[in-house]
Amino acid sequence: MRQKIFRSMGVLIAASLIFFYVLIVGVMYQQLFNNMEKEVEREARYLNSALNITGIDYLDNQVMKDEGNRITLIDSGGTVLFDSSEEIHTMDNHKDRPEIIEALKKGKGSSMRFSETLRQQTFYYAFRLDNGMVIRVANTTDSVLTMIMTNMPILLVLACIILIIAMIFARWQTKSIITPINNLNLEKPLENDIYDELTPLLHRIDNQNHLIKEQLEHLNKKQEEFNAITENMREALIIINKKNTVLSMNRAAVELLNVKRGNCIEKHFLTISRNHEFQSTIEEAMSGTPSDAIVILDNKYYKIMANPVYLEGILNGCVVLMLDVTEKHRAEQMRKEFSANVSHELKTPLMSISGYAEIIKNGLVKSEDIPEFSGRIYSEATRLSSLVGDIIKLSRLDEDENTPDFEEVNLLVLAEDIKERLLTQAAKKNVELRVIGENVKVKGVRQILDEMIYNLLDNAIKYNEDNGKAGVSVIKENDTVVLSVWDTGIGIPKEHQDRIFERFYRVDKSHSRETGGTGLGLSIVKHGAYYHNADIKIDSEPLRGTKIIITFKAI
Ligand code: ADP
Repeated sequence: MRQKIFRSMGVLIAASLIFFYVLIVGVMYQQLFNNMEKEVEREARYLNSALNITGIDYLDNQVMKDEGNRITLIDSGGTVLFDSSEEIHTMDNHKDRPEIIEALKKGKGSSMRFSETLRQQTFYYAFRLDNGMVIRVANTTDSVLTMIMTNMPILLVLACIILIIAMIFARWQTKSIITPINNLNLEKPLENDIYDELTPLLHRIDNQNHLIKEQLEHLNKKQEEFNAITENMREALIIINKKNTVLSMNRAAVELLNVKRGNCIEKHFLTISRNHEFQSTIEEAMSGTPSDAIVILDNKYYKIMANPVYLEGILNGCVVLMLDVTEKHRAEQMRKEFSANVSHELKTPLMSISGYAEIIKNGLVKSEDIPEFSGRIYSEATRLSSLVGDIIKLSRLDEDENTPDFEEVNLLVLAEDIKERLLTQAAKKNVELRVIGENVKVKGVRQILDEMIYNLLDNAIKYNEDNGKAGVSVIKENDTVVLSVWDTGIGIPKEHQDRIFERFYRVDKSHSRETGGTGLGLSIVKHGAYYHNADIKIDSEPLRGTKIIITFKAI
């Protein structure tokens, strides 16, 4: 804009300067021409007077040839008697010259024409003398032009000086016009005190500013909402555009894929993960087909779902969602293993029962041995029933629905009750049972707590030495209630301690079977503890005994 104004001003100044230059030259020419005419007339008049008084000799004495104006004396017949510029014998008759005709007729005459003698445009002024001759003075227009040309360099220098001054002024003027525009405060357009002509524009900018601000606020709000939702999602969300570059990734995606957001945004989605399943699922979605798959990243299972995004019927990218399904996958795995184990565990006693029953049916057992065989069938059936009972208990704990109501349960009273129920069993091995502690209550499900303590104390008797000791202690520690079930039994080797809570895990299978164990007791305890948000720990040493500690939150 500065350039444009400056250039326009420059052109205007130059044009004005040329115009004025031509005008001045014209005026000067006119002025000088008038002066030349007057001078010619004055000299003619002067010569007229002089010749009338002194006769024509004056010319020979006073007029120098080829100096100043051309002077010609012509007799009444038109013959040239004197000429200051030419040899008179070369000159023809001048009677037909307009100024001569006019002077002879009226006493004086003038004319402006091309002189054949001078070969230039010439102004003539003639006077008739008293003796009838005509004196004529002439000057060429060239003399005027010569004068102008003489002054031309000065005029040109002047024009250049004026041009330079005008250009400096134009630059300054341009700057003073532009500076306020450059210094406009476009944030607050109405606060500018500037040309009135700009007021409508500033009002429009102000309106646009308000509009942009409102739209920005709206967009920011939307962005914040989007961020609040996506950043707090547990699922990973990745948005990919049609050029296969990542537009957005939420926090979960960054954590899950273990990448830096800055390294992925605006980059090809292949840079996010090298996992083949991950890449092919997205590629499929980018070809327009929704797709999903299970991918394993860092030993964790993720379900990846990629859906194409269409805008006005044109594929515009895809949205990728990833869910952590590790737990679900493990649970499924465990359920499969559990089903296989259950079938196996159920099969063993059933096979024994059907085997004994078949032998009896075929009459292969002597009548005195029948009580023993039926006793075996009974004990296998009992094992089967307790196995089924434990499976039912576990599956109830597995189910999240129909959660029984929590109530306040006095653990010491409950432990005393269980001890009473297990006295007969303890008596068989002569194990001394003790319940000690404080009367403290926890919030829980009585039946589950009962099963937990029963299983623990039952194990404390089962895996005890004859004449050993076992017991339960209930102590309140700060805001927790610590329930410990201990024994002086065989103990559990270190390497098994982590696994004994697994379903059907037994340290010594034959011993467990002998004692009627199902391998599910501690699983029930662990589930129960989990159910009550309680912490479970084990402290055991082979041949010295075992202590299982469960820490509940106090009421
Ligand atoms: P089981 O029905 O076989 O007793 P549990 O789940 O109750 O099954 O126990 C798992 C295994 O842990 C047992 O088979 C046993 O080997 C070991 N165990 C449990 N409690 C004790 C304990 N008090 N002393 C020694 N070993 C124990």
